[in-house]
Amino acid sequence: MRIAETRERLAEERAALGTVALVPTMGALHEGHRSLIRLAHQYADDVVVSVFVNPLQFGPDEDFSRYPRTFDADVRACAEEGVRLVFAPSPEEMYTGNRQVTVSAGPMGDVLEGEFRPGHFDGVLTVVLKLFNLVRPQVAIFGQKDAQQLAMIRRMVADLDVPVRVVGAPTMREPDGLALSSRNRYLGPEDRRTGLYLSRALAEGRATAAQGPSAVRRAARRVLEEAAEARPPLRLDYLALVDPATFAEIGEDYAGEAVLAVAGKVGTTRLIDNMSVTFLPRTARG
Ligand code: AMP
Repeated sequence: MRIAETRERLAEERAALGTVALVPTMGALHEGHRSLIRLAHQYADDVVVSVFVNPLQFGPDEDFSRYPRTFDADVRACAEEGVRLVFAPSPEEMYTGNRQVTVSAGPMGDVLEGEFRPGHFDGVLTVVLKLFNLVRPQVAIFGQKDAQQLAMIRRMVADLDVPVRVVGAPTMREPDGLALSSRNRYLGPEDRRTGLYLSRALAEGRATAAQGPSAVRRAARRVLEEAAEARPPLRLDYLALVDPATFAEIGEDYAGEAVLAVAGKVGTTRLIDNMSVTFLPRTARG
């Protein structure tokens, strides 16, 4: 396995590869990232993983400087998973000093995650487009765990005619339901217990899908009200039940797959999660 830290080195290494499936990450790799790498192998000759904590997608009060960085372990994990090339540029390598042009996420970038993290999706899309241009993959794999990110990347690729096939990968969870996340390592045992309310709320919401969207929202909200009373409490940012293509709230007549998404803080750690919920046409509901 090769490691490239500069764009020159990347270009040299890329020239020796066949078709490429790219797995963009911010490092601190866990089993969720590994599942993306395993999926990537099904789509191309070679898998490239990028490890880059992208300053552009963090707000001024967010955790950029304390985001976990475990590069040596990440390299070992990539080697174990048969990755051909790790691209790990420094911020200076990715962004030259006089940068001006960025990608604008548009209205879908202003809701849910975008409302609580202004500018976040502009930063995500800018780095992803740069990675696509540098690595030139045929395929790129992204987790459903970040459902709005996945939807935004699909929109960018469609709207800007980016010649990359985007593939979504299912969310990997702990046995008790907690979605794997690099940020989970911030959680103490009590925080972790409160963090479990997120997946519980989603699961209970999903379990009422046969009764329609309002029932799903009510069931999830009941669990989150309990979470607000827990010690430490969950401080909810949002609960949303949205169309996966637009991230707009769905109405009572919606049929098909929707995304039930939740975000909140436990102590200083912000957690997000989502599950898909399928609605039958209203006339076919019990
Ligand atoms: P990150 O390093 O957090 O930016 O994540 C890199 C990629 O891994 C993104 O496409 C995420 O959606 C994906 N990912 C993160 N957590 C999980 C998980 N628990 N299961 C599957 N994919 C995940």
